[in-house]
Order: sequence, then C-alpha cells, then structure tokens
Amino acid sequence: MSALIEMQGVTKSYGSFTALDNVTLSLSGTSPSMTAVAGESGSGKTTLARMMLGFINPSIGHVLYRGKDVAKMSGTEQRQFRREVQPVFQDPFDVFNPFYRIDHVLETPVKRYKLADTQAGARAMIEDALKRVGLRPQDTLGRFPHELSGGQRQRVMVARAVLLRPKLIVADEPVSMVDASLRATILDELKTLNRELGISIVYITHDLTTAFQICDNIMILYRGTVSEAGSVERVIGAPKHPYSQLLVSSIPLPDLDKTWGSDEVPVSEASAARANPGCKFAPRCPHVMEMCWDNVPPKYVPDSQRLATCFLYRDAPVAPGDDVAVVFRPPDGPVAVAAS
Ligand code: ADP
Ligand code: MG
Repeated sequence: MSALIEMQGVTKSYGSFTALDNVTLSLSGTSPSMTAVAGESGSGKTTLARMMLGFINPSIGHVLYRGKDVAKMSGTEQRQFRREVQPVFQDPFDVFNPFYRIDHVLETPVKRYKLADTQAGARAMIEDALKRVGLRPQDTLGRFPHELSGGQRQRVMVARAVLLRPKLIVADEPVSMVDASLRATILDELKTLNRELGISIVYITHDLTTAFQICDNIMILYRGTVSEAGSVERVIGAPKHPYSQLLVSSIPLPDLDKTWGSDEVPVSEASAARANPGCKFAPRCPHVMEMCWDNVPPKYVPDSQRLATCFLYRDAPVAPGDDVAVVFRPPDGPVAVAAS
C-alpha cells in the first residue's frame, strides 16, 4: 500500500542557501491524518508546502504522490494530482479577483473539472461545500470579496478546496490573517473535514497551541532541518529536543492566543562566531556538546512515538531510512510504531 504523499530525502537550495535540508516524511494512504509542520519564520515551512503541492521541485530527493514522482507525472496523472491535493494559503485576499463575485471562485473548479452536469447540480455542490465550512450560502453567494470578512474569505477558500473532494489539503498558516476569535472555529472545521470526508490535512503553522489542539502528529523544523517529530502528545506535551523544549517553555499556558518563536533564544558571542558544519541548533543550544559542532545528528528514536535530531539521544536507535513516518501515530488508532 503506497503512502498518500511522501518526501524522500528532500532538499531545496537557492544558490548556496539551503531552505529545506534532507526532509523525509510520509503520510498514510489508508488513515486520513492531521499533521502539523511547525517552526519559526524562515524555517522552510512554505518551501515544504510548495514542494508538496508540486509548485516547485526539490533540488535533491523526490516527492511522491501515491507512489508517483510529482516531478515526472504524465498529463493525466498531473491533472488528478492537481485535483486531489489542494492548497489553502495564508492570505485569501490575494486569490480573489476583486471584480468578480464570490461565486466565480467556486464555479471555476466545477467547470474545469466538470464536477456537475447541470447548473442546478453545480449550485447544490457549491452550497453543500459552503455549509461544510460553516457559511450560509444565501449570505455568501452574490457578494464581492471586499464584502466578506477575512475569516469568511478564508472559509470560501476551504470550501473551494472541499468542492474538489481532495485527498489532501495543504494549509499554509491558514488562520494567521484571521481574527483571533474565529481561528479556533476554522481550525475545528478543518478537523471535521478530516474526520467526515477523510481528507488528510497538513497544517502549517508557527503556533504550537493550535497544532496541539487539532493535529495527531507534528514535525518541527529548525532552519530547514527536522528537529523533532512524532505525536503531538509527546512532542508538545513532553519535548525532548532542546529547541522544542525552548519553544514549549515559551508558551504561557493560560494565554492560548500567544504564538511562539517570537522569543529569540540568546546566542553567546563565542558560539555565534563559531562556524559549524554540525547541528544547526548548536549556537543556541543550552546543552551543546563538543560533538555537535562537527557532526550532523541523525534522527534518533528515543521512544516509539517520536524522533529527535539531537546527540543527547545517541543511545537510542536511529529511525530506519531517516523516516519521520515511523514515529507518526495513526489517527485515533492504537499507539504503535508504524512499519516504514
Ligand atoms: P517559512 O515559511 O517557514 O517562513 P520559507 O519556506 O518561506 O520559510 O523560507 C525559508 C527560507 O528560504 C527563508 O530564509 C527564505 O528567505 C528562503 N527562500 C524561500 N524562497 C526563496 C526563493 N525563491 N529564493 C531565495 N530564497 C528563498
Ligand atoms: Mg511561510
């Protein structure tokens, strides 16, 4: 059984700069999952999203959709991929043409993919999709983009994705431009789509709190590398990587709206000055050891539900094939190490 989507040793470089470094990840092709990709600004989240969506190709490695290399698909395969893997972006206003009514952005995919035979059929599909994201069709259709709130526009974008009955939605910071009061509702709706329609969701965020609330699994990126990954209970509940520990300790628990990553970890001048081919986190790490400067840590598996790219766990086994999926918990399933 092939995975829904897989990244195999994916690196993306821009000149000498590496935006994403050797990421391996696979999402189950049988159990629709909710996976968070988290990290501070510039950690490579959008680069990862764009590769999953086939918008850019890896410099090294492969992205496979149902076992097919996204960079080498035939026209027919590509058409199916484009329909089944849908993006939801940060700022929906950019996607709307201000001169067209909201209906246009919903009718276009229905026509392009011939989803309905009749006008009435198309209308029924669009209304169903709007209701699934908590919008009343009569309050939404016939309006212009500027007549809707940011939250409503974002829901229209989710409805547009839902129309196509995708297998995967890649949502890149989908609520960061939405009013705080609406964020939780929209994220809950994504979770409902996952559970009711079996759509897998990759939720990209810099907010650990919402990742914990809606996702099964999480992957934390630090400067393009995976620092820790596994079930949200383990990684956020009891982080092992020093970077995750710093992030989690900077969330004040009563304030759910606080985003993390804003508190810069101090770097001592001596460690900042030291160029290192080893662990990228070494200059900021409170537990840095001599070996960290010259060696890149592999993905250690300190317990069955997580891996940590850190030499503190060098007595633990290394993830087979460097694969993050080995520690991803199946949604609502038994806690176990999945076969890789
Ligand atoms: P995030 O979404 O986590 O904030 P991005 O994936 O957007 O991070 O960017 C990661 C790094 O890659 C950033 O330092 C960014 O400047 C760089 N980067 C992204 N896209 C390009 C590009 N097209 N050309 C050059 N550098 C890029
Ligand atoms: Mg981004």
